[in-house]
Amino acid sequence: MVIFKNAKQISDFLLKTKHNKKSIGFVPTMGALHDGHISLLNRSVARNEMTVCSIFVNPTQFNDPDDFKKYPVSIENDIYLLESSGCDLLFIPPAAEIYPGGTKNLRTYDLGYLETILEGEFRPGHFQGVCQVVHSLLEIVMPETIYLGQKDYQQCKVIKKLLELTNLNKTVNIEIVPTMRESDGLAMSSRNKRLSEHARSKATEISKVLNNIQTNIKPGNMILLIHSAVDHLETSGFKVDYVQIADAETLKPLSDWNGKQHIVALVAAFIDDVRLIDNMVIN
Ligand code: AMP
Repeated sequence: MVIFKNAKQISDFLLKTKHNKKSIGFVPTMGALHDGHISLLNRSVARNEMTVCSIFVNPTQFNDPDDFKKYPVSIENDIYLLESSGCDLLFIPPAAEIYPGGTKNLRTYDLGYLETILEGEFRPGHFQGVCQVVHSLLEIVMPETIYLGQKDYQQCKVIKKLLELTNLNKTVNIEIVPTMRESDGLAMSSRNKRLSEHARSKATEISKVLNNIQTNIKPGNMILLIHSAVDHLETSGFKVDYVQIADAETLKPLSDWNGKQHIVALVAAFIDDVRLIDNMVIN
């Protein structure tokens, strides 16, 4: 595996790869890698002649400075995991390579309602930051396919919108990889490293609540089902940002279900001071 820190150098290298008609798969991450990240990487390695991973803890997507400061870093272990998984190139840029003019007055994106619902409502500015970093990384790496985790369901929709807004959808495909879970159902996440033993034992309640929605959902009004999920999480010690059922395509929140519409249940909640998100496609 070759490691690059400089945007122009990796870009020049990848241009040669493209001229040799090799397909490039790209896995953007913020590091502190776990098996969820590696499942994206494995997918790319299986389907492309060259796989590029980036590790960059993007300051512009953190609406909470404390969350940014506490974001886990484990670069040596990350390099080991990537190398053992067949990653070809690793891009670890300093912030100045992604934002040469600093982080003020960056590009903005018209994401419409997608940035005012769910994560957008509770993390103002977060998806602008996601678009800023992903747009820059795509311009540098120019992959055929970007690999994203279903774990960040709304982020997948936002990046699809970003590709449409920038016309990058003409050259870049999105592939979404299912959420990897721990044996008790907890969705793998870099933030899980910050959970105390007690919080970790409670954290599994999020996936239990999603499973319960999946099992008990019936056509008609879903408000009671949502309220009982919120109650259960609060009783277990969570501070809940949202439990929401939404159209799986548009992500527009729904209170009634006709039994046929393709839907997804999404949760965001704090246990201690760690914010966890998860989702489950229902049908
Ligand atoms: P992050 O490092 O959190 O920015 O995540 C980088 C990529 O890995 C994103 O596309 C995430 O959706 C994906 N990812 C994170 N956790 C998981 C997981 N448990 N299973 C599958 N993909 C994941």
